[in-house]
Amino acid sequence: STVAERKARATETPLMPLAALADRGLVVPVLGGDRVPHTNLDLAASAPPLVAVAQHVAEITPWYSSVHRGTGYASELATELVEGSRAAVARHVGARDEDVVVFTRNTTDALNLLASAVPGDVVVLDLEHHANLLPWRSRRVVVAQPSVEGTLLALEAELARCPAALLAVTGASNVTGELLPIARLAELAHAHGARIAVDAAQLLPHRRVSLAESGADYLAFSGHKAYAPYGAGALVGRADWLDAATPYLAGGGAVADVSLDAVAWRTGPERHEAGTPNVLGAAAIAAALAEFERLGEPARAAHESALAARLGAGIDRVAGVRRIRAFDDAPEALGIVTLELEHGSVGLLAAALSAEHGVSVRAGRFCAHPLFDRVASRSNGLRASVGLGTGEAEIDRFLVALEQLVAEGP
Ligand code: PLP
Repeated sequence: STVAERKARATETPLMPLAALADRGLVVPVLGGDRVPHTNLDLAASAPPLVAVAQHVAEITPWYSSVHRGTGYASELATELVEGSRAAVARHVGARDEDVVVFTRNTTDALNLLASAVPGDVVVLDLEHHANLLPWRSRRVVVAQPSVEGTLLALEAELARCPAALLAVTGASNVTGELLPIARLAELAHAHGARIAVDAAQLLPHRRVSLAESGADYLAFSGHKAYAPYGAGALVGRADWLDAATPYLAGGGAVADVSLDAVAWRTGPERHEAGTPNVLGAAAIAAALAEFERLGEPARAAHESALAARLGAGIDRVAGVRRIRAFDDAPEALGIVTLELEHGSVGLLAAALSAEHGVSVRAGRFCAHPLFDRVASRSNGLRASVGLGTGEAEIDRFLVALEQLVAEGP
């Protein structure tokens, strides 16, 4: 069937929160006119909302209004939703008294905001997502070593060689899912007079992360990877740098007083939240975090670790594919696996997985080109990623399809 025909049939498919898919039997049309269950293994890119999140957003949608200004129920509710979400984020990530929660558009926006406030050099690893590489103007890049331990030593040597204001690291790689030891990195940075920022875009949706417990100074994350909608994220961390920085987004709400010749910027989160905030996005993030807390960290981690193990072991059994890793000693990884093919194109493989089997994955270099170019032997990889709402059956469907397509060859 043509793309146009498939698109027309795809509109018959209802849009459902991921966690409801298994119950409602969501199907997608595939080549040949059949319909198969939709298998979404691209949660590392964006994770569809949990049912509780979608319901919460639907409930509050009719009431939205502007925050902090109007009188009346709708405006009060909007203010309460944003400020309640701010408090929920602070609580969830173990923010300290001296920390502030600034709502941003996403992780990229949060890290760019921090970059506008950091008073000095930033040290990064070469394995970062571009969002934690490109915003830093005076960055010094350390090439990660094949082991986590070797990488810690390389970072230590760089911090000792020359002072830096900040060490900016990912909590979990968006290519390999491997976790970095945040508490040890925080200790290392602090020992050399630097602060540490954690890109938690991948980590926060899958593991509890606490500023107070890990000692991290800043944390950035996106709602859309944490089962909330697009357009809202946050930067959480020490207020002093942010209060001293000139807002890179200027406008209403960020100011205490304005004349035609002068402006007095506010301090606190409002300083960096000019303009009308994303009320629904903030509320959705709070709803997602509440779901994480309701499920409980042990249950959530156990569910996802089991899925990650099934996915990784299944891929390792397929002849002709190789799993990409940054480290040979990473103690743990999220349910994110990137593979490369010995022969053939992962782009074609990903297209066939979707068109013939209804399986959504991602092919490419995943906005982490330096890492990919160092550790991969081919120019592109194929990433499968799982999370809450993914079932074992979905992983098995992917593995069967993968094995079949790889065996058929290019
Ligand atoms: N950092 C990591 C580790 C990511 O995986 C991503 C997105 O893939 C980002 C940052 C950027 O997130 P966003 O596009 O929501 O700003």
